[in-house]
Amino acid sequence: MDAVASRAIRGDGTSEAEWHSWPGLAALPAIDLRALVPEGARAVVVAPHPDDEVLSVGGLLAQLADTGTPVQVIAVTDGTASHQGSTEWPADRLAQTRPSETLQALLCLGLTTEPMRLGLPDGGLQASRALLAARLVPLLRPRDVVFTTWRHDGHPDHEATGEACALAVASTGARLVEVPVWGWHWSRPGDARVPWQRAFRVALSAEAVRRKRAAVQAFTSQLLHDASTGAGPVLRDTTVQRAARPYEVVFL
Ligand SMILES: [Zn+2]
Repeated sequence: MDAVASRAIRGDGTSEAEWHSWPGLAALPAIDLRALVPEGARAVVVAPHPDDEVLSVGGLLAQLADTGTPVQVIAVTDGTASHQGSTEWPADRLAQTRPSETLQALLCLGLTTEPMRLGLPDGGLQASRALLAARLVPLLRPRDVVFTTWRHDGHPDHEATGEACALAVASTGARLVEVPVWGWHWSRPGDARVPWQRAFRVALSAEAVRRKRAAVQAFTSQLLHDASTGAGPVLRDTTVQRAARPYEVVFL
């Protein structure tokens, strides 16, 4: 079994009830948003697919929007591989729809800056890791705080994006913050594969949670059943319910 296979994404994933019943989650140390993104810094979110920016740090972004902190979202792919074999959601329709869903979602969060789109191949980032790192380097500034998907998140694109960001920050002086997205799905409370020792909770206001939940609902293409393939929604109930947490967890 290779590394990604041991973190395979199957079924509905670990439920919120299971996560909340684990005292270890509540016991994670808190980090203040200002300590994470200091005054004068810019937050850069590098999202492998449209929706990862919201699922990872949507609440945190809503709070940064209110403080006037500059935020730049970098969309690595347009998410055209989410509906394999679908006649309802062919790649060209997804290429139109998914970036506009992100735009709508960012408005829900209170952000008006447009994402920067890199247009790399959805599903092909393992092979494009070095290219992605090279594309990111000139976009980053030394004081940036770069949020991206965790290097062991389970989805190959998420892992490649985390690795590319680690390479890019190493040569720019920016700070890297990794965030689990699919990691919550395949891992279990107390899971030894998760780096809990470097996990911190960022508290969210009720208003930030409200905006994050609204932003998740903007990803219509990911929330519908697909009649042409019989597949259920890409974002399952467990994922949607996770967006109601009054905190987000980051790995430092
Ligand atoms: Zn993704």
